[in-house]
Amino acid sequence: MIAVILAVVGGYIFKPSHSAPAVSGLQVVASGYVPYTIAKQMVGEHAQVSMLLPPNAEPHAFEPTPGDMVAVHKADVFVYVSDDLEPWAKDVLGGAGANTRVVQLASTLPKSNDLHVWMDFDNVRTMARTLVGALAQADPSQAQVYQDNLAHFEEEISSLDNEFAHALANCQSREVVHVGHLAFSALAKRYNLKLSALAGASHDGEHSARKLADLVKYIRARNVKVVFTEEAVSPRLAQTVAVETGASLLPLYTIEHVSKDDFKKAVSYKELMRRNLENLKQGLVCQAS
Ligand SMILES: [Zn+2]
Repeated sequence: MIAVILAVVGGYIFKPSHSAPAVSGLQVVASGYVPYTIAKQMVGEHAQVSMLLPPNAEPHAFEPTPGDMVAVHKADVFVYVSDDLEPWAKDVLGGAGANTRVVQLASTLPKSNDLHVWMDFDNVRTMARTLVGALAQADPSQAQVYQDNLAHFEEEISSLDNEFAHALANCQSREVVHVGHLAFSALAKRYNLKLSALAGASHDGEHSARKLADLVKYIRARNVKVVFTEEAVSPRLAQTVAVETGASLLPLYTIEHVSKDDFKKAVSYKELMRRNLENLKQGLVCQAS
């Protein structure tokens, strides 16, 4: 009966779980949306996942609240990307309970100067494996479920990787002119695209007038038709570039930042990356081969 009522509330369809108790009791706390969405997919309906970073906030300069410390203290698993991406994580870790397992997803990745490690599909598979290792230890009764979800995720990512390679093989332009911060280097490198970011752009949209003028000059000289933008970073700046150059704007999704709406819809890593692919295909004018 409860499941029937839930199915109606808010127009969302909830799939009732028929296996075992709905929630094992494992409490997983994620720093931000990257670990949150991966964790949600790994645990399915078998654990509770919450996120410290509010939707619409960005992770590099977040300040945790006392409530966040309490959430981490009570958590069975606290998962974050890295000390470099989330320097504030060490503050909440001070409050981690004796039984809180702490998982730093980037700890098992090759060393890189790029903090946005999940923009590489090999990395994101490794990150999911690292998390599932910790989840299985924290709750051995659900280990098989986590392993199955991981296998499914890895398959999805592999086929998405092929889709990217295929779709971006034959494009009129290989240059991604991006007004945002440097979140897409790994993605560009993987598919042999050239990224012309408004270098040094920060999340709060602080750009020097000089850099903006240079970018406008560059777009005009190269006759760039589409400029890629970022939801979280200064839409006004992107608008200025569009007005000055006549270029149209297409968003790219960093995933570390999520809109309130996408958070409510629990939009997955795969869905956000697929939006990136669609916009890259459109903006670079790629032909299916
Ligand atoms: Zn970032």
